[in-house]
Amino acid sequence: DKQKLIRNFSIIAHIDHGKSTLADRLIEFTGALDKREMKEQILDNLEVERKHGITVKAQTARLEYEKDGQKYILNMIDTPGHVDFGYEVSKSLKACEGCLLVVDATQGVEAQTIANAYLAIDNDLELIPVINKIDLPSADIEKTKSEIEDALGIDAKESIEISAKSGLNIDKVVDAIIDRIPPPKGENNAPLRALVVDSWYDNYRGVVFIVRVFDGELKVGDKILVYSTKKEYDVEELGFFTPKSKKTDKLSTGEVGYVIANIKNIQDATVGDTITLAKNPTDRPFEGFQKPKPFVFAGLYPLNPEDYDDLAEALEKLQLNDASLTVEKEKSESLGFGFRCGFLGVLSMNITRERLEGEFGLDVVMTTPSVLYKVELTNGETIEISNPSELPQPTKIKAIYEPMVETEIITPAEFVGNIIKLLQDKRGQQKEILYIATDRVLIKYKVPLAEILVDFYDKLKSLSRGYASFDYEFSGFEASDLTKLIILINSKEIDSFSLIVPKEKAYRIAREVLKNLKQYIPKQLFEVRLQAKVGGKIIAKETIGALRKDVLAKCYGGDITRKKKLLEKQKEGKKKLKQLGNVGISKEAFIKLVEIK
Ligand code: GDP
Ligand code: MG
Repeated sequence: DKQKLIRNFSIIAHIDHGKSTLADRLIEFTGALDKREMKEQILDNLEVERKHGITVKAQTARLEYEKDGQKYILNMIDTPGHVDFGYEVSKSLKACEGCLLVVDATQGVEAQTIANAYLAIDNDLELIPVINKIDLPSADIEKTKSEIEDALGIDAKESIEISAKSGLNIDKVVDAIIDRIPPPKGENNAPLRALVVDSWYDNYRGVVFIVRVFDGELKVGDKILVYSTKKEYDVEELGFFTPKSKKTDKLSTGEVGYVIANIKNIQDATVGDTITLAKNPTDRPFEGFQKPKPFVFAGLYPLNPEDYDDLAEALEKLQLNDASLTVEKEKSESLGFGFRCGFLGVLSMNITRERLEGEFGLDVVMTTPSVLYKVELTNGETIEISNPSELPQPTKIKAIYEPMVETEIITPAEFVGNIIKLLQDKRGQQKEILYIATDRVLIKYKVPLAEILVDFYDKLKSLSRGYASFDYEFSGFEASDLTKLIILINSKEIDSFSLIVPKEKAYRIAREVLKNLKQYIPKQLFEVRLQAKVGGKIIAKETIGALRKDVLAKCYGGDITRKKKLLEKQKEGKKKLKQLGNVGISKEAFIKLVEIK
């Protein structure tokens, strides 16, 4: 049985603990690429694209290694980059029988170490702890081991101590992959059952996706069926990454490889979906498949209205590669024409904004992000709201439900008090507090997602002088006492400033928003009244005094017609600003204001 010689594994780690470095060392050690080729790998990828080949994703690689006269296939499966809510990571771990849990010996266990390890444990994977960076003088191997045991409840006696940088003990890692991770146990003769582990859009080939074949066999020319959509496609090309791409004519039970099947839309091959054969489909699709569903929403507007079409085009391009990104046209009275975009989470939202600015060179105004609310109406209907300005009248609402997340925070013990205060302030519910070492603590809380959208991470970092690490996972909707906060400028409602806020905090948030507004709206030629309204009542006010601009002072003694003209111009300007309805706040000021919130 060919499967006996296959090992499917992932590498999981907290950021910067050495996952990529270890992956490179494994590729090098098994001889897939030599040192020079390693360096050229990135360049190669570009070259491949130029030759209309397919984009190679680094770090998903089929490595071959001979041990005791047997030739093993080691499939290193990269977990997708999107880590919001861990769904995709969890699905790609499902494709493995084991994983390497890399922990930096100078840092110890961190929040993502725990979040990822839980996902691996949930998927019944063989977990091999790998303690990295032991070449550094500040490495504390014993402490790291005891943190692994206390935080994760797994035995760290069998952990492997390495330096991914120098290559020390990489051979032991490879031995452990072969000796400790079980081979796949699929059925060769059963109908094809393959799991989509990752997918992306290639400019020349369309959607490329990686599958793990659990049962049966997939051949070039087969007609496949995507389980969730019931759509059928012809398989044009199959292959492996070594990490160079290598074509093959079939993928057998237990194997991992890429598939190209003339799929145009990434929504049609998303992580976690089941691939089977059209003529003999499996009746056992993988459980727990979810269509990528956005949880976080924000309005995106071009800074310059002329850039609207460019922004539309850029968002369309980004959607090709992000199945969870939703884009809808939106018109805001205050900001003009733009888009309401939905993201899987905060991370994807920030990545999208950065890419719009970095890759597409667009200046974008982003409104304060909002979560998705479920609103139960008095007429029995339940609607979903992603734009606070769309929340119905309070009399029509029976209950509002908001998304919750479970957070894991790891911090030096001295900051625990401060962090708990922050979590309480964020309407958190305490779940667990655990010492994983005498001086390091794991804090678990349930918190409304809305509370961690904007400034939570920054606050956490500054409260802990940068030492706390943080991860979160979606955990359902809960009813909360929420209300709409409306901001008015000179009695006019500014739609893009509406917020959905907890009633208990409405007053405080209203005061803060107005204070920020006051700071960022420059003085106008007339008085600017700022008001915050909740449930029909004004709960906070600020006034920005008028700028006393004596335009006539400039032209003392000048001729009378010039004076007249100036006066007229000033009047006109006043009118125009008022007509704009936003008291002539420059868009730049809008951005500043929105960003500060
Ligand atoms: P990742 O975020 O987990 O992929 O981490 P990287 O592999 O990018 O490594 C983060 C940083 O740690 C890089 O600067 C690496 O060069 C460094 N690094 C990784 N492994 C080692 C190691 O064993 N020893 C030392 N000294 N540095 C390492
Ligand atoms: Mg990396």
